[in-house]
Amino acid sequence: MESLLNEILMQCASYKQQGAVASYIPELAKADPEQFGICVVEADGTIHTAGQWQSVFTMQSIIKPVILLAALMDSGEERVRQLVGMEATGKPFDAFNYSDQALAAGHINPMINTGAIALCTLIQGATYEEKFRRLLDLTRELAGNDRLQVEESVFQSEKATGSKNRALAYLLKAYGMISDRVEDIIDCYFKACSIGANCADLARIARGLACHDHSSLQPAHARYVNATLMTCGMYDGSGEFALNVGIPAKSGVGGGIMGVVPGRMGIGVYSPALDKKGNSVAGIKAMELLSQRLNLSIF
Ligand code: GLN
Repeated sequence: MESLLNEILMQCASYKQQGAVASYIPELAKADPEQFGICVVEADGTIHTAGQWQSVFTMQSIIKPVILLAALMDSGEERVRQLVGMEATGKPFDAFNYSDQALAAGHINPMINTGAIALCTLIQGATYEEKFRRLLDLTRELAGNDRLQVEESVFQSEKATGSKNRALAYLLKAYGMISDRVEDIIDCYFKACSIGANCADLARIARGLACHDHSSLQPAHARYVNATLMTCGMYDGSGEFALNVGIPAKSGVGGGIMGVVPGRMGIGVYSPALDKKGNSVAGIKAMELLSQRLNLSIF
């Protein structure tokens, strides 16, 4: 497996030049586009790595499945369904454009920003600090890594520049979908996006979702999260990804991608140069090749 992973990184290396690191969060612009790492954790826990798999990057949207999971665990499926739906959006992750649709739960996917911001309200905790703490603890448990923490510089950078996410949260408030203070909710969301992790952390979280055997994970919740990843985990690139890779996955603008291969393995990839949709270019290629070589598509 290690030699296969090394071969894949070599074959996909040229794709790093085809993307650009995210710059709308200024701190993310400092990422080194040459970084490229991968980790596979098999069902029995065996770990395989290649490249810069130990480099730490911020999870960004890869925290969205964990937010959904926490909301399901803490508030139950019924309340989650009252707030967000399941359908693909075909739109960018931070789209404002709800013009032809009412802003209603059925049109909000938990894997886009609006959905994840809304779901922060359903995490257990008397304050948003407590809710964030609960989310961080769950992420640490799933990753089997107590040292996961917020990258403070990225958090501050997004907090200072995150007008669009703030606006999305106010939109939710205007439509009566959330009632708490927007600044508190948005701080929790920005902190969640700024949790630092490496490829092995992502692969371990994904292995739990793939195998349904983690003590903190009910199988029904894992199925819920995985189905949502399939509809929208790669945003408006989800259909293409389903065709070319064929596994539930989640990307983040930090350059990570987490892949869930049901019953078989979890995958973490990192390469910070992104395409226009905010997905890692070389990361997607690596997933494509791995899927072909190991016959991973669930279709
Ligand atoms: N923190 C980022 C944002 O809200 C996450 C987006 C992403 O990773 N696609 O804009």
